[in-house]
Amino acid sequence: MNPDDSGEPGGNLTCGRCQARLEPTKTQFSYLGHSFHTEVPACPVCGQVFISEELARGRMVEVETSLEDK
Ligand SMILES: [Zn+2]
Repeated sequence: MNPDDSGEPGGNLTCGRCQARLEPTKTQFSYLGHSFHTEVPACPVCGQVFISEELARGRMVEVETSLEDK
């Protein structure tokens, strides 16, 4: 981990249930038969993953773009 990295995702988010600070966690997603890993804010206590609409849309656009290249 880079201690100088202040741009971590979800750095100031907290879990609504646990009030625990969310930590960037590598999570696997699958979409249109493709699977990929990305870091998303997740609760270290209950494991709840928080995906913003912006993030989801960004990843989806990325996947769709890669499909179009073929
Ligand atoms: Zn939680």
